[in-house]
Amino acid sequence: MGARAPLKTPGEIVTDYSYRFCPSCGHGLEGHERAGQQRRICPSCEWVHWDNPLPVLAGLIEIEGQILLARNASWPEKMFALITGFMERGESPEAGMARELKEETNLDVVRMGLIGVYEFTRKNEVIIAYHVEATGQVQLSEELVEYRLVAPHRLRPWRQGTGQAMADWMRARQLPVEFIDLPSSVRQMVEPAASGE
Ligand SMILES: [Zn+2]
Repeated sequence: MGARAPLKTPGEIVTDYSYRFCPSCGHGLEGHERAGQQRRICPSCEWVHWDNPLPVLAGLIEIEGQILLARNASWPEKMFALITGFMERGESPEAGMARELKEETNLDVVRMGLIGVYEFTRKNEVIIAYHVEATGQVQLSEELVEYRLVAPHRLRPWRQGTGQAMADWMRARQLPVEFIDLPSSVRQMVEPAASGE
């Protein structure tokens, strides 16, 4: 049986919980150095768990001058966030963003511009953040229970995750950035994301 990765202290990179057995042949994985780092490697078929960061799309969605923030069904009542999602195979980031927006809110893209690309090492993710001007009637998917339209100057980013993108977008518009700090119990649930007001 492959050993499970030891629990790490808060703040360290937390990844690599998923693979104990080779997904290709089912043999237990072993820790070995490969390309300069410890990796989980299959001694039977040489499969390597590279554990590369996963890209996450994040959209700061603007509708008629206001920013749409939505609350996930599993989050506390006052936590609202950007629209986020993963890319599908064969999809460009822009197409993925447009698809996620449609699926989660029923909105259509009018114009889209990159805000930036941000590390989120705690979850082994890379955030690709877009400012999206959108149009349509909001209809939330089942994952989202509630949304708010927030004036840009009232946005309150948090310091990690998509909060970095929200803050950069605000700074580019000369809006004063006031960060909020979240209790760690809440942070676990909502990052990467950001809150409005
Ligand atoms: Zn294998």
